[in-house]
Amino acid sequence: MIIAKNNDRRAGSGRRAAKASMPAVLAITAWLAGPAAGIAANCPGNPDALGTSRIIAVDPTEHPRIGTMQYGETLPLQDHEVVLTFDDGPLPKHTNAILDTLAAECVKATFFMVGRMAHDFPQDVRRVRDAGHTIGTHSQNHPFRFGSLPAERMTAEIEEAIANVGTALGNPSAVAPFFRIPGLRRAEAVEAYLASRGIMTWSADFPADDWRPISAAQVASLALSRLEAKGKGILLLHDIQARTQTALPVILQQLKARGYRIVHVVPASAAHPKTLTEPSEWIPLWIHGAPVMAHGPATPPFAFGKPGNPVHTGPSAALSVWLARSRKPAPAALHTAGNDPERTPVLTHRPKRAARGPAAQPGSTPAPAAGTTGPRPGPIRTGHRMDTPKTRIR
Ligand SMILES: [Zn+2]
Repeated sequence: MIIAKNNDRRAGSGRRAAKASMPAVLAITAWLAGPAAGIAANCPGNPDALGTSRIIAVDPTEHPRIGTMQYGETLPLQDHEVVLTFDDGPLPKHTNAILDTLAAECVKATFFMVGRMAHDFPQDVRRVRDAGHTIGTHSQNHPFRFGSLPAERMTAEIEEAIANVGTALGNPSAVAPFFRIPGLRRAEAVEAYLASRGIMTWSADFPADDWRPISAAQVASLALSRLEAKGKGILLLHDIQARTQTALPVILQQLKARGYRIVHVVPASAAHPKTLTEPSEWIPLWIHGAPVMAHGPATPPFAFGKPGNPVHTGPSAALSVWLARSRKPAPAALHTAGNDPERTPVLTHRPKRAARGPAAQPGSTPAPAAGTTGPRPGPIRTGHRMDTPKTRIR
């Protein structure tokens, strides 16, 4: 099967199919893609492509909250399987280059779009869809304190985003029932509302700090070292950042070199029956046996400590357990729960300004020339180990 040719409207086959087809879906066996090697061999123009190894079709009503940064469940991935996610777009200047990079490697991802961005750049929403990626939503205006919003505004943010992305796609029901809370500022009321709508709340398993003023090499280094620490998981990236655009080819090249496989996630539908899994597959090994709470901590545990010296106690015990059980400690990134991980990109990417091209972020690495993705990059050369940022990240 050639994932690259699966550019139908799967990305948005979402809500309608996920709701309407569940009874039938339950009786159908899982559909899995072929082996990664076969996919890569069928990637046009790139026989050595990373490729997309398989598709997972999920039922949001069975697993309404995923991502071990905050929750006790995550996608049922096998060792060395990775799911790529991109937030905050679309922003043509960077999203298009990121799409080119993904296409060159025949890799499929999930995009969590901001409603107002979709409103301003509807053609780019469609380009993401036409490339076969999954499209979820990320609120209408990306408010910083999402979990503290009055209920009416919270629901409006969710619904307006779905409506704007749906309008761009030509069909509101074509939006996948996947939502990532802005800044991961979760609250039970938000999650409960999303669950009542049959929408899956996506946290992540590890970020790459690409919203912060670090270099593209550091973004790649953090993505890879944190992945190595867990062995699999959902990677959180942002398609509105020059540093992410620059880092992505390196990340994909290194994933290939290190034997990782890309998994594409879609909502279960008639076209993609639910992937059959055991409940235990949604609870990764680093959480098994840990006192995981039902909904995760109230604020995102954006902090990385050392084994034996957890940075959180109580509600965030799951994070500490994860750190202690990681094969090696996460790199020395330290941010506090009060440091909104996405404040910078949102503040600096108002759509009207973005249309002329956003100003370079402090410390960002220049992006490749417009319209090109640049040559296939070699290994990261920072003069430091891959898992050691050149400068201390705060
Ligand atoms: Zn965001």
